[in-house]
Amino acid sequence: NFVYDVIIIGGGPIGLACAIEAQEKGLSYVVLEKGALVNSLFNYPLYMTFFSTAEKLEIGNVPFSCIAPKPGRQEALEYYRNVHKHFNLHIKMFERVISINKQGSGMFVVHSSKDWYNARNVVIATGFYEIPIYMNVPGENLPQVRHYYKEAHEYAFSKVLVVGANNSSVDAALECWRKGAEVTMVIRRDQINDRVKYWVKPDIENRIAEGSIKAYYYSEVTEIRDGEADIFTPDGTVTLENDFVLALTGYRPDIDFLKKSGINVSEGLECTPQYNPETMETNVQGLYLAGVVCGGLETHKWFIENSRVHAGMIVNDIISKQ
Ligand code: FAD
Repeated sequence: NFVYDVIIIGGGPIGLACAIEAQEKGLSYVVLEKGALVNSLFNYPLYMTFFSTAEKLEIGNVPFSCIAPKPGRQEALEYYRNVHKHFNLHIKMFERVISINKQGSGMFVVHSSKDWYNARNVVIATGFYEIPIYMNVPGENLPQVRHYYKEAHEYAFSKVLVVGANNSSVDAALECWRKGAEVTMVIRRDQINDRVKYWVKPDIENRIAEGSIKAYYYSEVTEIRDGEADIFTPDGTVTLENDFVLALTGYRPDIDFLKKSGINVSEGLECTPQYNPETMETNVQGLYLAGVVCGGLETHKWFIENSRVHAGMIVNDIISKQ
């Protein structure tokens, strides 16, 4: 069986950056991606705008030309497809990695939904967009409750609860309201999150102040039923008529997958995986982390702009140990 120098798990922007680096340095590699190329971006809201400018999303020194300063989803998909075309990367799509096992010999055996692979090194670049952070309330599994938002059309002329006060919730609330939905936001704290895109924050704050979008602060959804939802507010429980709940309460990396691969993860709320910040190698020799997965549950810590450098750090470390 062929032994790869490195197997890269995840074909997101950072997995692709690792692949380019490996290819340019002459390492044998393959990327295993459970979905389409840059699958997380593919699943973003259709009309989202990145908070990063185009050049900050570039990988492999391929220029990202974009007319507005900040690209949207479609332009980013175009860009990463072109990057793949340019480098002709070795990527197997629609192939999910199930387990990574290190043998006594030091070799990794990577088991996917389609095959088994051997590698001297493995990079986990699996991101965080696959698992929603659930509210854990009765009715959360009803069909009108969504943890991913694509576009506003189906919510037009309906009563929509948007849970959360971060970028995803704010974008969805504004879009749905502009397409004619009656939008109520349920916000756990006392304000819209400070990390909301600086050009969007005044828009949502003004819509709330003028009463176009209603907001309950210090509040949480406690139960969802057909046609209505309960919200626990500082003034007691309020029951609202409701057609849809957009529970955009965040996403988290697959921490169990990291643990099963032998990586130490900190106790407590952050679940930070253990790695050397100079090489990105975890406590398992030859097993590396790259991209947003490095932050554990602190998913805001890493993004494309500040984690694309992981690719060079990892490949240099692999080469220095050969
Ligand atoms: P991802 O892009 O999530 O890639 C991980 C890949 O791994 C996915 O394609 C996934 O399908 C695959 N995968 C997962 N598990 C497995 C498995 N077991 N086997 C095989 N494949 C697997 N960041 C920015 O820098 N700028 C922005 O403007 C920005 N805007 C954002 C907007 C939204 C709506 C969201 C949700 C995030 C945004 N981010 C932004 C954060 C962004 O998601 C990350 O920065 C970026 O996707 C990180 O790239 P990554 O390669 O680390 O992870």
